[in-house]
Amino acid sequence: MAKYGMVIDLTRCNGCHNCFLACRDEYCGNDYPPYSAAQPYTGQFWMRVMEKERGTYPKIKIAYTAVPCMQCKNATCIQASSNNAVYRRPDGIVIIDPEKAVGQKEVVSSCPYRVIYWNEEKQLPQKCTFCAHLLDAGWKEPRCVEACPTSALIFGDLEDPDSQISKAMASDDLEVFHPEFGLKPRVRYIGLPKRFIAGSVALGDEEDEWAKDVTVTLMDNKAEKTIKTDSFGDFEFEGLQPETEYAIKIEHKGYAPKEFHVQTKMDVYLGEIELSPNP
Ligand code: SF4
Ligand code: SF4
Repeated sequence: MAKYGMVIDLTRCNGCHNCFLACRDEYCGNDYPPYSAAQPYTGQFWMRVMEKERGTYPKIKIAYTAVPCMQCKNATCIQASSNNAVYRRPDGIVIIDPEKAVGQKEVVSSCPYRVIYWNEEKQLPQKCTFCAHLLDAGWKEPRCVEACPTSALIFGDLEDPDSQISKAMASDDLEVFHPEFGLKPRVRYIGLPKRFIAGSVALGDEEDEWAKDVTVTLMDNKAEKTIKTDSFGDFEFEGLQPETEYAIKIEHKGYAPKEFHVQTKMDVYLGEIELSPNP
């Protein structure tokens, strides 16, 4: 028996929303008993693409995080339902029964990931099913995975050691979205947004010249990492831990070094840093 899982590689996600649109196309106006009733045309996001603006002007980035139902092993939605209205299939997919779950609004707030939506007209909680009706019909992947142009969504059978998903799940970079919820999700991530520290270096004695190949070292209490500024004098350390103290040292032969102490409460742009020539 297959056990399905998904890896969402956010380093490949460009925020195109194709996954969201494919989901809409599959479910709006279409009932798939016994797994799902039609999704309304507005207000529900079974595959939601969250957008978060990171940093401050002029160093701004947009982070996209695609969020389906996590198909948790410790699914709080199952615990919150009555009459077996929410259950797990043998292949691991968590289903809200569209008949039994009528009136069970409490199921909506039981999910800390907030991926269950209330259908007011049908008085029904609804969510992503990993396209269970398609998998039963022989499809290899849900519509969102098929629609993703960058292969950011990897889906398959976790029991098959040769499957792409099993290989992706073995990655050292794998992360759980909100591990503090403790729900053991079958959906895992690569590249969840964290914090960056960036800056731009200029040489004080060279007007309008960006300082290329300047050595920039990042230090915390465990390790240090050194990079060089690019052709525009820019540097960036990405994927740093939030709420952590870091030191940044900037060194260039013939110039006085500079050091900064930074707290990653948020993403940090140090601005233009001018190095002065040694006297
Ligand atoms: S993400 Fe929420 S809705 Fe999905 S299985 Fe987990 S608890 Fe249930
Ligand atoms: S389709 Fe793929 S690239 Fe586009 S938003 Fe969804 S996950 Fe990201």
